[in-house]
Amino acid sequence: MKNLIRVGHGFDTHRLVEGQVLVLGGVEIPHHQQLQGHSDADVLIHAICDALLGASGLGDIGNLFPDTDDRNRNRNSREFLTEVYRLLQSHAIGIVNVDVTLIAEAPKLAPFVGAMRSNLSADLELDQGFVNIKATTTEGLGFTGRAEGIAAHAVVLVEQSIA
Ligand code: MG
Repeated sequence: MKNLIRVGHGFDTHRLVEGQVLVLGGVEIPHHQQLQGHSDADVLIHAICDALLGASGLGDIGNLFPDTDDRNRNRNSREFLTEVYRLLQSHAIGIVNVDVTLIAEAPKLAPFVGAMRSNLSADLELDQGFVNIKATTTEGLGFTGRAEGIAAHAVVLVEQSIA
């Protein structure tokens, strides 16, 4: 029995528009802007889905959940994450750990990171110590610095036992 480990990276960006609630990591954060997208635009979860699919050699979130499909309109991205997790399970692929960097000028995200980790750890059946979320700014520089959008990078490690 051979145990293979594979690394994956995911990146996503969504535009900020006027609004009342930001959804990040499945947590609703009161703010004067919200993310624009076909689904709930949860940029953090989209980056994790792509990292998991990338590590597993299973494509990307765009071909799994196309934005041309009305079923995905305003959809809760935690459903995408759960479906991706099930797809990995069906290939006997387990998740070792997840590490995310969120890039947002505002609001301060630190108070919400615990709740995001709790959601992700429940959805991926991982101990919270294996689901890390970091938040940073770009010091006012670029589109994230001008609060035109929020970006997220995710890196994951997966393992697969092969006979
Ligand atoms: Mg997205």
